[in-house]
Amino acid sequence: MIENREKHLKHNLKQVFGYDTFRSGQLEVIDHLLNGHDVVSIMPTGAGKSLCFQLPALLHNFQTIIVSPLVALMNDQTAALKGVGVDVELIHSGRSYQDNATAWRSFASGGAKMLYLSPERLMQERMLAALQAQKIGMFVIDEAHCISKWGAGFRPDYEALSRLKDLFPNVIIGAFTATADHATRIDISEKLTKGRANIIVKGFDRPNLSLVVNAKKNLKADLLSYVSKRAGQSGIVYCLSRRETDDITTFLREQGINALAYHAGKSMEFRTAAQKRFMSEDNIVMVATIAFGMGIDKPDIRFVVHASLPASVEAFYQEIGRAGRDGMPSDTALFYGLSDLIKRQRMIFEGDGTEQFKLLEYRRLEYLIGYCETVKCRKAALLSYFDEESEPCGHCDNCINPPIVVEYTAQARMVLEAVEQTGQFFGASYIIDLVRGAETSKIIEKKHHDLTAFGAGKSYTKSFFQTLIRQLVSSGILKVNLEKYGAIQLTRKAAAIGAGTELFFGRSDIEIEAAAVPKKVSDSSRFKGYNPALFQVLKVARLTIAQQKDVPAYMIFSDSTLKEMALRQPVTEQEFLSINGIGRQKFKEYFERFTAIIQDWQKTESASFTPHRQDSLSDGL
Ligand code: ADP
Ligand code: ZN
Repeated sequence: MIENREKHLKHNLKQVFGYDTFRSGQLEVIDHLLNGHDVVSIMPTGAGKSLCFQLPALLHNFQTIIVSPLVALMNDQTAALKGVGVDVELIHSGRSYQDNATAWRSFASGGAKMLYLSPERLMQERMLAALQAQKIGMFVIDEAHCISKWGAGFRPDYEALSRLKDLFPNVIIGAFTATADHATRIDISEKLTKGRANIIVKGFDRPNLSLVVNAKKNLKADLLSYVSKRAGQSGIVYCLSRRETDDITTFLREQGINALAYHAGKSMEFRTAAQKRFMSEDNIVMVATIAFGMGIDKPDIRFVVHASLPASVEAFYQEIGRAGRDGMPSDTALFYGLSDLIKRQRMIFEGDGTEQFKLLEYRRLEYLIGYCETVKCRKAALLSYFDEESEPCGHCDNCINPPIVVEYTAQARMVLEAVEQTGQFFGASYIIDLVRGAETSKIIEKKHHDLTAFGAGKSYTKSFFQTLIRQLVSSGILKVNLEKYGAIQLTRKAAAIGAGTELFFGRSDIEIEAAAVPKKVSDSSRFKGYNPALFQVLKVARLTIAQQKDVPAYMIFSDSTLKEMALRQPVTEQEFLSINGIGRQKFKEYFERFTAIIQDWQKTESASFTPHRQDSLSDGL
């Protein structure tokens, strides 16, 4: 890109949005759109997609239509734009006729460069005709995967958007999504741009997220310890079912955690209120099914935990992607056990869809299991799924605590023999009892205590065999037969282990900390030495303003902007403007208020006590 052009874009980035640098992929997408090229951009949640079309929309000398499937997303994006002083209009069925009519008149008279529309509003013949008379130069399709039957989340009202290219042949198309595998990307490009789009996949690396997978042992206690260590932070705990969601919420609340439950079984009012609280308050743990997700763009979610196995790597990535959108260190953890794997298999094979579809879903699940069982860097495993390469990240559980791989052929054979001798008829817990020599009534009744497999592994714990069987299933040596009520059965691969021609290696069942403490990447480098007390004072001021304006606090300033203020303590215009996250509009609105707070604070601070002196005093003792 021409150097001047980049300078010009950076200047506008700072002036309007207040940011100093572009994130990975943003500049490339913006450049294409400014050059009039169609783009399909795949960027993970939190990477900063909106800016990729908002900045070109402002710089082009024509108007832009932005289509989004969700009212909440449109509301948030337009509120954020207004917050930085950009005129923008919004039309959807959640607003009154009067509001929509006013919005249209203002847009039609050239009052705003951007108009947000729901797909069904856009594709009404009257609207299309009216738009032909406007100077529309670009259509942006957000959540573009909704147009494809290949991906999850297909929406029939999105399919109509494939008419756009015929109706407006000269208009630039920008399609954006966080999740689209190869087939879906091609499909989006075909439908929206007749295959002419530049497909840009960027930014799947989220260096601020730490990745941890834990064996599921004592879920509730482990969850409690996990969230207790993160008191005062916002987080999400994803559960598989409504029942599990309610159950875990009740438990956490009884233990004094500020937890809320969210799932499709709750009333609409309850869900709206819960979501609103989560978005605007600081320390809520949202326990939820995947019903909670779309439109959650709160930037300071500090942790996302999966209490059960998600559906696929893509779903997993999207869900953990909700953590740390502000770029600050954030944790993710997945609790995983054999029973989850069986539940997921059941959901796939007992669900709707053709055999081919089910197999595809099963493949996807297998990738995810591979991620759970890997002994290598989890970040690298995750990124390789999205075709991005990565060096070992240094802060996932496997990097911090490299798993010990041990040869477990003899122990594996104990299990295989137990399975074989009992006719491949029983589930994992029965097999474990048998191998460990438990004289349960069922075993006695079946006379299985006479088998040679009985008690062969009596010196090992139950949890050892649970982990071993899980690994044997994950590596395809054993399989779970769902039609036979979850019976564990042998596969072809089992024969080689049984015959001793192949060895079995597994990760030893070391107890890892529920959460690896990541190296605080950005915290230590960018904000080292910031004053936490001042940070708290600034946060209070932010909350007061947010409440007055009835917007979420992060729309005023992000945590990282406040931290930088608490570090650099700007008091002059120049200093204040140089903070990342402060552009023209925020400067105008908040310069006086925040610099006054900082100055006040500096005065009282120097008048009362100096912590350094106290430190040195206690050092001397
Ligand atoms: P998504 O890709 O999920 O749509 P958003 O567009 O909502 O992500 O951006 C996520 C967050 O990152 C927002 O708070 C946004 O203001 C911030 N952001 C976007 N671009 C930058 C940038 N270049 N520098 C700093 N913050 C940015
Ligand atoms: Zn790693």
